[in-house]
Amino acid sequence: MSFSELGLIPEILRAVTEAGYTEPTPIQRQAIPVVLAGHDVMGGAQTGTGKTAGFTLPLLNRLARHASSSTSPARHPVRALILAPTRELAMQVYESVKMYSKHLPLRSTCIYGGVDMNPQIQELRRGIEIVVATPGRLLDHVQQKTIALGQVEFLILDEADRMLDMGFIPDIRRILALLPANRQSLLFSATFSDEIKKLADQMLKNPQLIEVARRNMVSETITHIVHPVSSGLKRNLLAHIVRHEDEANQVLVFVDTKFACSRLAHFLERHGISADAIHGDKTQQARTETLENFKSGKVRVLVATDVAARGLDIEDLPSVINFELPHTAEDYVHRIGRTGRAGKSGKAVSLVSSEERHRLADIQKLIKLEIKQEIVPGYDPEPDFFDADGSRRRRSAPASRPTDSAAAAAPAGERRKRSERPERSERPERSERPQRSRQPAHIAADGFDFSKPYEQKGDITSASGEGSGGDSPVPEKGQRPIAFLLGGLGRKH
Ligand code: AMP
Repeated sequence: MSFSELGLIPEILRAVTEAGYTEPTPIQRQAIPVVLAGHDVMGGAQTGTGKTAGFTLPLLNRLARHASSSTSPARHPVRALILAPTRELAMQVYESVKMYSKHLPLRSTCIYGGVDMNPQIQELRRGIEIVVATPGRLLDHVQQKTIALGQVEFLILDEADRMLDMGFIPDIRRILALLPANRQSLLFSATFSDEIKKLADQMLKNPQLIEVARRNMVSETITHIVHPVSSGLKRNLLAHIVRHEDEANQVLVFVDTKFACSRLAHFLERHGISADAIHGDKTQQARTETLENFKSGKVRVLVATDVAARGLDIEDLPSVINFELPHTAEDYVHRIGRTGRAGKSGKAVSLVSSEERHRLADIQKLIKLEIKQEIVPGYDPEPDFFDADGSRRRRSAPASRPTDSAAAAAPAGERRKRSERPERSERPERSERPQRSRQPAHIAADGFDFSKPYEQKGDITSASGEGSGGDSPVPEKGQRPIAFLLGGLGRKH
């Protein structure tokens, strides 16, 4: 299928061709006709699928009738409002809007917090049809009466689940109350918890459900690998992995907290690896600079928190490293969505300590994939990593891994000292690295088959299978013995 079959006007088709797109992505094929027909949309979508063009192209198409080359601000009221949870995502969406609207006399701008309001006020005064905004700053403008929303015809709420995580839902409700009731609204979210469904009820009229990308499906072009490692050795292991990657390869590293983010970037820098951190406490200017430096290749490793990295569109990223596994399994899917895009191969590496095993189990359950585990020699996990539960200890490592078994048996205190050792050992090629002697079983205790592909359920809500509204049998923490995932049960101890 080509873009021209979707009913888009020539000005937009030209911009799409100039962007280098030859055919629409699945989300675009689904969303564009529905939005063009004027329906409200509730879309299950994540970044990396082409969802921005999926909603922006038909939006521009519908706005084109208002396009005016008049200089009068009155001819350019705000007609479309696109809300995004982070400044970075707002900027990215704005860049897309600019690119796709370049052959139309439609004006757009991006307003977000953390910067001076005055230039935004000047811009809004000129008259702007499309405003991409973060909720807080938009409300600042509303309060100062520097924006009028009385003529908004289109509302797009991007990454609604992240809005919820970031506490923006009350702001969104306030914004909804300011908009004309007669409008077309689209809501995109990667997950559909009860709160999101409630918001959708309030915001959308007879929405068409579009599952633009199965939320818990990960690209088949991504290779997943888990390195069991004790938490004290993680930093050194990270440096080791980065050093042994191809020098040209950039790496995005995820951590849980802002504090850990900066510390880890400093650690890498001290070890001769160019790195920077991106997190919410940095000024907008610093965040933009960091991102630019990473995109241009000046910085090799970008250490990020989930919130800061959300929606970052970084092309051709060969690998993503989870320094810590995310607390929610869905975030694993978001994180690794930065690699293996558009059919390219990618690598998702996770450094997993003993206390994160339940997160690993949740992730494997969600993505329905049993991730291969490989201990990097010299960087062993805590001795209890392979424990099925408190009483059951997995047999020490196979004979092919003498280092591992010795380390696994070492007391925690001794092993902690390893973290202080200089980063010396050479990492063997993957093919030479010791592998687990036995392939793990694909069928878990409850009959769950990890080898089966994801199967979509009847509707988008059930497909989400998580959150307070989900009904999928996600096990309680620790419910599934880790040894099962490793093929360890049934062995004698
Ligand atoms: P998004 O999911 O909107 O963040 O888009 C991810 C990336 O895909 C962006 O870099 C877009 O420029 C790119 N993209 C969007 N649509 C297409 C398409 N039809 N063909 C190729 N690339 C696309």
